[in-house]
Amino acid sequence: MHEIFQYVDRNRERFLGELFALIKQPSISAQNVGVAECAGLLKSQMEAIGIPARVLATAGHPVVFGEVRAPDAKRSILIYGHYDVQPPDPLDLWHTPPFEPTIKDGRIWGRGTGDNKGQFFAHLKAVEAILKTAGKLPVNVKFLFEGEEEISSRSLRAFIEANRALLAADYAFCSDGPMLPNHQPTILFGVRGILHVEVSLKGANKDVHSGNLGVFVPAPAWRLVHFLNTLKDPQGRILIKGFADAVVPPSALEKETLRKIPFDPVVLTGLGLPPAPVEAGAAYFERLMFQPTVNICGLTSGYQGSGSKTIVPHRASAKIDMRLVVNQDPDDIFAKFAAHAKTHGFDDLQIERQGGFYPSRTNLDHPLGGAAARAVRQGFGKEPILQPCMGGSDPDYYFTHVLGIPRVNVPYAPHDENNHAPNESIMVEGFFHGIKTTAALLHEVAAL
Ligand SMILES: [Zn+2]
Repeated sequence: MHEIFQYVDRNRERFLGELFALIKQPSISAQNVGVAECAGLLKSQMEAIGIPARVLATAGHPVVFGEVRAPDAKRSILIYGHYDVQPPDPLDLWHTPPFEPTIKDGRIWGRGTGDNKGQFFAHLKAVEAILKTAGKLPVNVKFLFEGEEEISSRSLRAFIEANRALLAADYAFCSDGPMLPNHQPTILFGVRGILHVEVSLKGANKDVHSGNLGVFVPAPAWRLVHFLNTLKDPQGRILIKGFADAVVPPSALEKETLRKIPFDPVVLTGLGLPPAPVEAGAAYFERLMFQPTVNICGLTSGYQGSGSKTIVPHRASAKIDMRLVVNQDPDDIFAKFAAHAKTHGFDDLQIERQGGFYPSRTNLDHPLGGAAARAVRQGFGKEPILQPCMGGSDPDYYFTHVLGIPRVNVPYAPHDENNHAPNESIMVEGFFHGIKTTAALLHEVAAL
């Protein structure tokens, strides 16, 4: 690895310049700003490294696919990333312009630095470093970069199902999300799933005066409150029948792993809350990774402006997200949610399903995890922490179940990367440690 790492060190300035070019190109999937241009730029950056690449159409924004075959390799690895970014608003809170990458305090600042351009670009530079020093890769490498991750990867599943042969591989790998608060690298073996639902109720065909007709018309806001009240009890227990039937408690190995994750109460400070008893370490992580949630993420009815308005609002709605864990199935959970509404007499409730992700996990003792741990030790010079799952969600399931291959995620961005928020960043050294980690990983995978 020595020669490869030296190549990385010799080319730092150029690598940063190329990453900057990618960050300068906006690619806001939610607003369709610059996405096609970014796909074209990424393709040309891959070709410049010697990675044959194609921009492939999907039902939405395109996928950029690239593949480098290794002459006598037995293994293939599929590397996933996403080139789309979140909208940069609110612009006035940025210290530097979001699409003008800037280095300050050891970080690269800009939209997409951490999520996800700065992370997946490290994989491309790792391939370059190996090709330019050894002349060939130790494994076949396929790249799948999507342009819709920030809008729930809506076309990715259909794309993967239609391109199984193209994407066939032994392992999948990605770098997304943050490292731990103590800057320790982490290896993530799975994700929680998520199901988004919007519920709404209608009364009269318009708001009415609450002092006059108000006594005769139905009150959707009250009815919505009564419905929401049936979902959870005051202790936070979820009351949807059968909701947790498929939940599997952590295994002995998983419990052991949870105990080793450093718990930093910093994650709960700075929220403007009175000091609360914090569930320590393993208990917190067990809830985060192994238990589902039902959350009201939006609640709307009636007049919300200043002062008061004496109406009975004619409509009320709520957005609900449910974080799901292995082996919960979003289809089954949606059916149970709808049945719950019926059983409790809410036949008039409109329930709209709004997408989401399946939960997914790769076994902690899968050899891919060992390969990733050895790669992290070489690339970062630090011991990685293993995490059975992350609290959030991503398309992991499409790899582990649709393609049927294991996947691990080794984040290269810092814990405070501010993804989706103003002043997003990645550490300069995190980017270079990432390049070295990916280069080492390709060799470790070849040896499995
Ligand atoms: Zn994101």
